[in-house]
Amino acid sequence: RAYDLRINHVEPRVHAYITRAGKEFLAAAAEALDESLKGWRKTQPMMAMPIAIKDNICTEGMKTTCASRMLENFVPPYDATVVAKLRAQGFLLIGKTNLDEFAMGSSTENSAFGPTRNPWNPKCVPGGSSGGSAAAVAADECVAALGSDTGGSIRQPAALCGVVGLKPTYGRVSRYGLVAFASSLDQIGPITKDVADAAILLNVIAGHDPLDSTSAAVPVPDYTRVFKRKDLRKVRIGVPMEYFAEGLDPQIEQAVGVALGELQELGAEIKEIKLPMTGAAVATYYLIATAEASSNLARYDGVRFGLRGSSSKDLLDLYLTTRQEGFGPEVKRRIMLGTYALSAGYYEAYYGKAQAVRTLIKQDFQAAFKEVDLIVTPVTPTPAFKLGEKTADPLQMYLSDIYTISVNLAGLPALALPCGLSSTGLPIGMQIIGRPFEEETIFRAGY
Ligand code: GLN
Repeated sequence: RAYDLRINHVEPRVHAYITRAGKEFLAAAAEALDESLKGWRKTQPMMAMPIAIKDNICTEGMKTTCASRMLENFVPPYDATVVAKLRAQGFLLIGKTNLDEFAMGSSTENSAFGPTRNPWNPKCVPGGSSGGSAAAVAADECVAALGSDTGGSIRQPAALCGVVGLKPTYGRVSRYGLVAFASSLDQIGPITKDVADAAILLNVIAGHDPLDSTSAAVPVPDYTRVFKRKDLRKVRIGVPMEYFAEGLDPQIEQAVGVALGELQELGAEIKEIKLPMTGAAVATYYLIATAEASSNLARYDGVRFGLRGSSSKDLLDLYLTTRQEGFGPEVKRRIMLGTYALSAGYYEAYYGKAQAVRTLIKQDFQAAFKEVDLIVTPVTPTPAFKLGEKTADPLQMYLSDIYTISVNLAGLPALALPCGLSSTGLPIGMQIIGRPFEEETIFRAGY
């Protein structure tokens, strides 16, 4: 009830939600509380916890729009695996959060239903694409949320809104029911108020899923057990100089530096490392992500899902009018870029080359992780920018992902967490990157 009232109160300013749970939410909450009073709390410790879900994750019976006209009225007939797992633990879905259309963007301004605003300053963006989830957590509109991260979409909005966000190892969490953007990069993860909550949620959503052939059959530890340790002895932390170069706001550099000092005081050994391929990451990502997106979004043809073009004289015309009317400008731009990169004659020069560079980026990290256990970097080059500041120049927008996308290309886990405030009163985040399936070590340092 308190969360419901809180949402009523702040939503006119924040606009974190696309769809809110209806009256049935309060009814279910009341019922769950009754049950838990009868002692059910033992079997379902998360009974009635209100959680928000990014609106590109399928929820049975609740609209899943991807912030697109294309899916404006799409009600999935099934739950994503992560949603089914949350429900099984007693979580209640309090609503579906805003995002950049099909998760393509870094500011949540690409939503067909209007932007979300940063709760710390409504003139600023909350980041993206999971801007609605991060803003909802920051503004107390839910206990926690799920986002998806293809190139930074959990970590960047978490950093800009002053909350915690984890992008798990590729394959750690099932993607079944996540509307695909770039299948080799996408991963679902928690956005929470603190590291402990992120660990609790990862416990719930992680694990192999027969419905997702890319989910990994690696045992899931109890992530919360790491909180028993209060020191970082024997943990080696690498600081890549390429991430502290030109373009980084000095206030962010300073805040991350102070945090590194704290980690050192807790016993960690800090050393400089090199990730020489860093400069190629943005170009590599925007070739691979757009190529995969152009293929994944081919399914929106006016026949099988969602929108059907208003009038059409034949099948080709139906495809054209549907896609013309259903997709926004950024989605169209990416479909065109991706189609070009995959087309005959260009495939080798663009997509093929990007895949080769992706391997080099991965090898950079493999080499670094022979020397260190964790890598600490900034999440973003600047604190939250103003609405409209980067919309006219897509390249500027793409460059704001510079510190997050290598992690997706290499399939690694990484946590964003708050480490200070700028002089303008906006949150600053830091990133902790770990070896594949070593989320535990990341949580230990983050906690
Ligand atoms: N901002 C990046 C992009 O626009 C990442 C998005 C994401 O992680 N979904 O592609």
